[in-house]
Amino acid sequence: RGLRVSQHVPGPRCALSWLRDGGPSHPLTARPSRRFQDVASISLQGVSKHWDTATALADTTLQIDSGSFTVLLGPSGCGKSTTLRLIAGLEQPSGGQILIDGQDVTALSPAERRIAMVFQNYALFPHLSVADNIAFGLQVRKVPRAEQQRRVDEVAALVGLQALLQRRPGQLSGGQQQRVALARALVSQARVCLMDEPLSNLDAQLRQEMRRELRELQQRLKLTVVYVTHDQAEAMSMADQVVLLNAGRIEQNAAPRELYARPASTFAARFIGTPPMNVVPAAALAGHALAGPAADAKVAAGLSVGVRPESVVVDPAGVAAEVVAAEFLGADTLIETRLGGAPFVLRAPGKVVATAGQTVHVSWRGQDAHWFEGETGRRIED
Ligand code: ADP
Ligand code: MG
Repeated sequence: RGLRVSQHVPGPRCALSWLRDGGPSHPLTARPSRRFQDVASISLQGVSKHWDTATALADTTLQIDSGSFTVLLGPSGCGKSTTLRLIAGLEQPSGGQILIDGQDVTALSPAERRIAMVFQNYALFPHLSVADNIAFGLQVRKVPRAEQQRRVDEVAALVGLQALLQRRPGQLSGGQQQRVALARALVSQARVCLMDEPLSNLDAQLRQEMRRELRELQQRLKLTVVYVTHDQAEAMSMADQVVLLNAGRIEQNAAPRELYARPASTFAARFIGTPPMNVVPAAALAGHALAGPAADAKVAAGLSVGVRPESVVVDPAGVAAEVVAAEFLGADTLIETRLGGAPFVLRAPGKVVATAGQTVHVSWRGQDAHWFEGETGRRIED
């Protein structure tokens, strides 16, 4: 009553945004005919890291394929940077082994591991030209001058910096600076490229551009990249594999599509999606067909049910929810409600007029409901 909605076809529409990223084409960049350099797989076997008071990483086993883009995702303090630093050799594990291309590197120094780390501000020297920034590590290692020149030229061609080699970093765009940082990693013949929140200082639009560019380069050069972020949208749009960490443990390790479609826990369900999945106690559906079979047993066992906002439709036969607020976003409207006392958000296409205090009935398809154990929050397989 008084609530106007247009037709809503439920489904994971967010998935489409992951497929948009074709990336810009670079007519100036070379496509390597062979794999540019040997890139490596990484394996963590029962790796842990304890500090006096804290466990940053607990007994973690993880496989990262050669040539893949892997994102370590999770809230602040969950152990992302520690994991990256352990792979780089900047920290020693308290237990377990780290393998690169099957070789145990746990006792090797960072330099011996042939890994490059790209930092947040790219750590470019402002007074050096692009060419000298790229060649810096080679100069330090006293690589012969002609060899330096040859490798810098080759890498510059790969990342499209040939025309900019004599510029200073201050005369480059953000995307070009990122390419210099990557070129420096490539020229050192690193087998793995590690990045810790490299885009977090940038404004939203530039960040999106850089994500696309970075992903395009990684795919074209088939690099092994391990990338840390706390931003789930960044992870979903870039990764082949997302490793979701929670308090030093892997909560779920899966491709973006799988993480979205089948969250392994309420933690994963609530971490992924904008807005994230609703998770409410089964009791909120008591007496309604949406609770499905064995409804009483579900309530007694304290299960919870998860539904993505984009899977929810307004339906007179649905369960009653009380509107708290509505936010018009242009393409659609987010309606924030309370369902059985729990916060519950739905996304409806177009402009929907809904006022606080109003009752709205909502439903979803059975296959869009995700069930979780009450105590552990683990997914119940269907
Ligand atoms: P993230 O990068 O996911 O934000 P970190 O890996 O930096 O998390 O940290 C994980 C946990 O380990 C945190 O609780 C942090 O306080 C702790 N930690 C990290 N480095 C140290 C250190 N040098 N000494 C003591 N505790 C640390
Ligand atoms: Mg960190």
